[in-house]
Amino acid sequence: MSNSEPSVFTKIIAREIPAEIVFESDTVIAIRDIAPKAPVHLLVIPKTQQYRTVGELAAGDPALLADVVGVAQSLADEHTDSEFRLVFNTGESAGQTVFHVHAHVLGASVSSGQSLTEGSLAE
Ligand code: AMP
Repeated sequence: MSNSEPSVFTKIIAREIPAEIVFESDTVIAIRDIAPKAPVHLLVIPKTQQYRTVGELAAGDPALLADVVGVAQSLADEHTDSEFRLVFNTGESAGQTVFHVHAHVLGASVSSGQSLTEGSLAE
């Protein structure tokens, strides 16, 4: 399934709007979330906006989903103590606002005394 209008992430990939890019490959980009919900809050985004949700991505291109997860781990290795929460909001009622599939990488830094609160997964 494809979307006709360029998503906010497609505009970031095209450098039409600014973002703090922390990783980029031929297939995936990662940026810092503009409204962080954790000490480390990154978004890992397939460059194609062909897939709206993680379910569509899993069905349509499982290798690309594996890339997204691998990049999430690498970023956690770099930005946290390799520990992280990986969230794919799926659908409006689950809080999805951008229908261009993306993974939220949420983390903290245990060595600097930070941690995510267990039990705060959903408000
Ligand atoms: P979701 O609600 O799961 O669709 O996540 C969309 C995320 O994109 C939210 O956490 C927003 O804060 C984030 N976001 C929206 N616009 C931008 C932007 N221009 N730069 C960085 N993050 C953004």
